[in-house]
Amino acid sequence: MLKILETKRAQNQCKRARAHQSGNLFITHHDRRIRFRSSCETEYKYRRSASHRQTHVLFRKKPVPRHESLKIDGRLLEVRLRLNPRARRMIVKVNPATGEVSVTAPSRRGLAHALDFARGEKDWIAGQLAKAPGPAFLAAGTVIPFQGVPHEIRAAAKGPAPVWAADGVIWVRGREAHASRRVLDFLKKEARAALEARVLEHAPRLNAKPSRITVRDTASRWGSCSSGRSLSFSWRLILAPAFVLDYVVAHEVAHLREMNHSARFWAHVKILVADFQAPQAWLKQHGRELQRYAVKT
Ligand SMILES: [Zn+2]
Repeated sequence: MLKILETKRAQNQCKRARAHQSGNLFITHHDRRIRFRSSCETEYKYRRSASHRQTHVLFRKKPVPRHESLKIDGRLLEVRLRLNPRARRMIVKVNPATGEVSVTAPSRRGLAHALDFARGEKDWIAGQLAKAPGPAFLAAGTVIPFQGVPHEIRAAAKGPAPVWAADGVIWVRGREAHASRRVLDFLKKEARAALEARVLEHAPRLNAKPSRITVRDTASRWGSCSSGRSLSFSWRLILAPAFVLDYVVAHEVAHLREMNHSARFWAHVKILVADFQAPQAWLKQHGRELQRYAVKT
């Protein structure tokens, strides 16, 4: 779901590029291009080939994304403008899960024209938006997957905790205005507990010692392992079935031994998870759906 423009160089090139990109929108952590990075990530997006050091610097210098409004089909749409010096062209993206529209420009000068560029792609954006289900808010009435099982969020008058899960329901107590945030806190807490438990189980089996475990909301990766042996995971893994979370943990723990995707690395993964094809296929098919869930503000 990418649209790429390169002036008039040819519509064909544009089409080819789009097909190439959309074919790589899912898990591509076997991607050879990240083989030599000192930070290995379980990603669901095609990523750069820059080294860890470069990545670090680029992230540090990364400006805060700007938001602009664009009118499409009579409604005002928020467009996120991003600067990415690694991008070779202007790129419009519509997140098929959340409907978020973003334009990435390769330079500051390009950034100034980003909105115009998006305006020129209005029809394409409208078409993509029509296909996107849009965000699902963490609020009463919404059904969300929790450990892979659909759970309906419901308000509770009283109960054992501010938020708890039981029999396909996530109950949330307290004022409605805070419900969404409370559910998110609950999911993050559950994610942390499950991720830490799996790390504690897997790491000793490979004689690996992580320095730290962090839980974040990273849109582009499920997990990562830095050269400083710090493991990082997306809280959204708690929405996926346990075998998927388990695989991502095993994958990152294996990177504590092999910071690449070599045969030796996969041999380590295999010690921890006998069948890693099933969770990989699950992430490829459903991973993106997990990005839909958002706090209602
Ligand atoms: Zn990896």
